Amino acid sequence: MPTAVVVGAGMAGLAAAGALARCGWQVILLEGAERVAAPPTALVLWPNGRRALEAIDPGGGWSAIASPLPDGGVRRPDGQWLVAPRGTGTGPAPAAVHLEDLYDALVAGLGDLVQLRTGFKVLSLRTGPRVRPAVSDGRTEIEADLVVAADGIDSTIRRTLAPESAAVGSGFAAWQAVIPAYRLPRLPAEQAAGGETLGAGYRFVSIPLGERAAGRGGVYWVATAAGAPRPEPPATQLALLRRWFADWHPPVGELLAATHADDLVPQEVRELRPLPRAYGFPSGPGGVVLLGDAAHAMPHHLGQGACLAFEDAATLRSLVAEAAPGPALTAAVEQYGRLRHPRTTTVVRQTRRMSAVVQARGRLALRARDAALSHMRPRMLPDWSPPEAADLTGSPDLTGSPDGVATEP
Ligand SMILES: Cc1cc2nc3c(=O)[nH]c(=O)nc-3n(C[C@H](O)[C@H](O)[C@H](O)COP(=O)(O)OP(=O)(O)OC[C@H]3O[C@@H](n4cnc5c(N)ncnc54)[C@H](O)[C@@H]3O)c2cc1C
Repeated sequence: MPTAVVVGAGMAGLAAAGALARCGWQVILLEGAERVAAPPTALVLWPNGRRALEAIDPGGGWSAIASPLPDGGVRRPDGQWLVAPRGTGTGPAPAAVHLEDLYDALVAGLGDLVQLRTGFKVLSLRTGPRVRPAVSDGRTEIEADLVVAADGIDSTIRRTLAPESAAVGSGFAAWQAVIPAYRLPRLPAEQAAGGETLGAGYRFVSIPLGERAAGRGGVYWVATAAGAPRPEPPATQLALLRRWFADWHPPVGELLAATHADDLVPQEVRELRPLPRAYGFPSGPGGVVLLGDAAHAMPHHLGQGACLAFEDAATLRSLVAEAAPGPALTAAVEQYGRLRHPRTTTVVRQTRRMSAVVQARGRLALRARDAALSHMRPRMLPDWSPPEAADLTGSPDLTGSPDGVATEP
């Protein structure tokens, strides 16, 4: 039976470990923290992310935990429309999901097939043309045919294999919270539907998480401000947010008033610059692949980080399902990079354009932003489907560049 070590039990690692185990691999999942825990926030699963989850685990019950995302359009702080609601396009509808529900479903998908070891912080990686790849925490070395690096933006493994790529600040701070259902303010129907509002250097998005029957319910919001993260304690940061967004149209103020300091998850927004030059690194009879934020961390403006991680996991599963350790597996490792690099490069490029939109300040910049906005909605991203048979065999020139690597955005 082929063996894999997956490093990191965030969304990317959980999805990849379950996907590999379900197609017959023996998987060890290593997590540096003492337990696997979801942040108390939520996210949007765009059609590509939903398709990828279905491809990874068709029986995962994803629809039961995800609430359809109403297209609330985009408004100015005074409530004027910048982009009116206009339907959701093709494919499965975008949906919002509480991360605790998503993690529960991903962990349930591991079944008994995956050996999970928490408190195992990978400190080093061993690779070479003739050796099976191996990771170590300084005391125990674990080798396998395939190492999957899903250890997030500060990935130890990426630093070893792709030192050219560094985690840097994107020039934003973000605050997220889920207001539980029992604490929600009473809102008129048109305000309860959620939506997105863009000010000068500020952005506020609110999303209802549906009825409590299936998931945890409540309302998720994420606020973004251009500039550095704030050093103050959460209660002071919440007071600051209430001041910054005080004049914004309802229900922004009502949602911030219903938020408790304990609900708040503040963070600096960071990204990888440049992206790693490759995502697949052959070693011995298999190799190492980069996946999720370890491969392509980007600002959250288009809500694509986790969706791309699920695409990564679905693609990896398709490539290695039938690949025995040896030439077939090393070819699959290389093909993984050829398929994923151009795709993530495109999404990162679009995300950076959206960063400029969110950062816009000043009358002229805001006018240019308003004109450009309609071209930059997530549904304008090229859609994604699981790889087909033709994609699974190596193709020398999928990216148009001589070394098979797309141009860095
Ligand atoms: C404000 C905000 C909003 C967002 N909204 C969306 C959205 O709507 N839709 C969307 O698709 N994406 C969204 N994202 C992006 C998404 O959250 C990330 O892309 C996703 O969480 C990345 O998951 P990951 O598993 O790759 O990394 P992580 O979640 O960082 O997981 C990495 C795991 O590896 C472990 N680890 C790290 N180092 C080691 C080590 N050396 N050894 C062992 N274990 C290790 C960590 O403890 C962690 O458990 C958003 C991000 C932000 C900041």
